[in-house]
Amino acid sequence: MVFGDFLIAVIGGGVCGAISAGTCAKKGFDVSLFEEHPVVGEPVQCTGLVSNKGLLRIGVEPKKFSVNQVKGARIFSPAGDVLEISGKRPKASVIDRSALDRHFAEKAEKAGCIMFVGEKATGFSANNTTSVLKTTCGKFEVERIVGADGVFSKTASWLNLPKTPAPVFAKQFVLEGIEKDRNFVELYFGQKVAPGFFAWVVPEKEFVRVGLGVRDPGTLNAFAGRFLDRFPEGEVVSVQSGAIPQGIRKKTAGSNGLVVGDAAGQVKASSGGGVVFGGLCASFAHLSPQEYEVQWRKQFEADLRNHFFIRKCLNRVSDKSFDALLRKAKEQGVDETVSVFGEMEETKALAKQMFFRHKSFLVRAALSYVFG
Ligand SMILES: Cc1cc2nc3c(=O)[nH]c(=O)nc-3n(C[C@H](O)[C@H](O)[C@H](O)COP(=O)(O)OP(=O)(O)OC[C@H]3O[C@@H](n4cnc5c(N)ncnc54)[C@H](O)[C@@H]3O)c2cc1C
Repeated sequence: MVFGDFLIAVIGGGVCGAISAGTCAKKGFDVSLFEEHPVVGEPVQCTGLVSNKGLLRIGVEPKKFSVNQVKGARIFSPAGDVLEISGKRPKASVIDRSALDRHFAEKAEKAGCIMFVGEKATGFSANNTTSVLKTTCGKFEVERIVGADGVFSKTASWLNLPKTPAPVFAKQFVLEGIEKDRNFVELYFGQKVAPGFFAWVVPEKEFVRVGLGVRDPGTLNAFAGRFLDRFPEGEVVSVQSGAIPQGIRKKTAGSNGLVVGDAAGQVKASSGGGVVFGGLCASFAHLSPQEYEVQWRKQFEADLRNHFFIRKCLNRVSDKSFDALLRKAKEQGVDETVSVFGEMEETKALAKQMFFRHKSFLVRAALSYVFG
């Protein structure tokens, strides 16, 4: 039995699902959202480090959900050398991610979206005349579906979309009792620390978010445990884990719907940040699937590909070459260039400056890419 009908059903109530649903409702579409968990925004699977510029781009005043403001990053090479990238003013917020998701879900509901929280989408079938979404609260006739159901998207397979590359697997601990400079995040690289990604220390006001990602899920607990051992004075308040997409889906729209956010791979593969690009792409979710595919790629694909290229380079460079590159970067003032021109999302301005100012560093980086 079919219970009702909606023009658009959004599957997943994370940040991208909620923004998609809100956009569709505001554009006057009859829209519903299904979120399998009983509370929107829980459980948290995110470090919540988001650029202030990026937050503004998705319509959020940076301080609104901020639990800390950071000025820059300290990058640690495998040998322990440090490169500091710093702005005069705070560049990024450490946010309460759960509150951000709830904010967008409330906005969607206010705009007219019907929310089904604690209800899971379990299947989808479509023929020439009808499309039916099966859920734990019944079947619904829909015109199209928007899959915002995360990195292991079922919607993508219901829409027959191609698979994405394997994600990175991540684990994070929230620690109490750690003394850290609240102005900086710390990023640790190296095969012995976090092969295939990196480890991070992101300070809140009272707590510190400490975690890492690795390519091989079978090794995650061992690497995460080893990194946690560096903070013997810290008391673990909570543990979170999740996966981070490492490439864009080749096709993100089919005849009966589209996928957005992690489900589409709209994530910076370099850093794992998905809130801003996913959120920006979600603001196109009201378009026809074909138009959506064209529009988000036109606006954001180039930057996402650049981030993917950076990740590819980092993954190919050996620890020894990384150490050498970091030293060279310091010698050549790359840290200053990145401090002035680097943005957490856009890549073009920095790429241009790097090309003009640091050609020999780029040649060295290219050689490291080729020879490891
Ligand atoms: C450890 C970790 C740290 C991260 N740190 C950062 C960071 O610092 N900054 C940043 O920008 N990004 C970060 N990310 C990435 C960021 O969390 C994601 O890119 C972002 O959450 C994507 O949002 P989304 O809405 O696409 O997916 P999600 O947030 O994953 O939401 C998907 C939702 O769909 C629901 N769902 C799934 N299947 C169904 C179904 N069948 N029916 C109903 N509901 C369903 C899930 O319950 C979930 O609520 C991090 C990720 C991880 C794992």
